[in-house]
Amino acid sequence: MEKKMKQFFIDLVEAPSPSGFEQPAQEVYRNFIGKYADEVKTDVHGNVIALKKGTSDLRLMLVGHADEIGLMVNYIDDNGFVRFVPIGGVDVALLPGTRVNIYHNGQLVRGVIGRKAIHLLQPEERKVAPKLEDLWIDIGASNREAAEKRVGIGDAITFSPGLEELEGGVITSKATDNKAGVYVVAAVMKELAKEEIACNLYSVAAVQEEVGLRGAKTSAFGIDPHVGIAIDVTHATDFPGMNKNVLGDIRLGFGPVIAVGCNINPKVFELLKKAGDKAKVKYQIEAAPRGTGTDANALQVNRAGVATGLISIPNRYMHTQNEVIHLEDLAAAAKLLAEFARQIDNTTDFIPKV
Ligand SMILES: [Zn+2]
Repeated sequence: MEKKMKQFFIDLVEAPSPSGFEQPAQEVYRNFIGKYADEVKTDVHGNVIALKKGTSDLRLMLVGHADEIGLMVNYIDDNGFVRFVPIGGVDVALLPGTRVNIYHNGQLVRGVIGRKAIHLLQPEERKVAPKLEDLWIDIGASNREAAEKRVGIGDAITFSPGLEELEGGVITSKATDNKAGVYVVAAVMKELAKEEIACNLYSVAAVQEEVGLRGAKTSAFGIDPHVGIAIDVTHATDFPGMNKNVLGDIRLGFGPVIAVGCNINPKVFELLKKAGDKAKVKYQIEAAPRGTGTDANALQVNRAGVATGLISIPNRYMHTQNEVIHLEDLAAAAKLLAEFARQIDNTTDFIPKV
């Protein structure tokens, strides 16, 4: 991945953006995409929608969600400890002993989620994961008044690890779910910037996926696309304890994952594979027998229905503070999707038939 693009991805993952608080990441996206799109607008929900105009009236929407899981301040106790509730699917067992960032009126407050030392835990306490309501964030304040000067109810909280490269393109960071998708929709726009294409390409950084696919719903209604593709992360199964009989064989560095199943239009599925072959990009196939938990689900049932696809980036340790992905999978996904965008026009038939 070229240096400038890597920096863009670093800026995305490190910008705080728990669901409902996405604008710092959206600002990174806006600043990048403005150079490559004909129009960029932010809607009232907070979705950022970039448009590259095409030569036909076909509308293609690519969507990656900009929100990440996180926490939110809901109570400050008399001793100045900050109590919190989750934003999205947070694994409580992983919280004790981690550092967090609290964002208060644009100011960063550092904190640590405390835990009684192992020496002091009762034998039965050692065996069970703590409950969320028993955890607290220590910001170093001596009492409630001191804490209230620095944090307030409703402040958003993120995990703090930034991006580090482990080896040759394999990186670890918080929030690759789903800054990976935002990166890809932006990279497709960049790749096509100097070309004329038939479809009107909408690259959307959507809000609030982690709390119910909410930004994809509003942005898809507004755009009214004929074809929609969500770009998200999926569980890699190439690490200890993953059952390939149940979860299939998905590996880091083996390319983007194309989903197939009821959430996916069969013509879109075939065209995505063809685009991958044409672009000489390795890809993997994932069986998705139900509606997926991704923005592809919201896209497909928009209005009278959208021809929907789903491209996923293999991800280890999803929703932990230190997810792991391969940067080359991002670059390959962008290449594949740029080729897909080149291939379709208003004569392409997406109606499923035998
Ligand atoms: Zn997620």
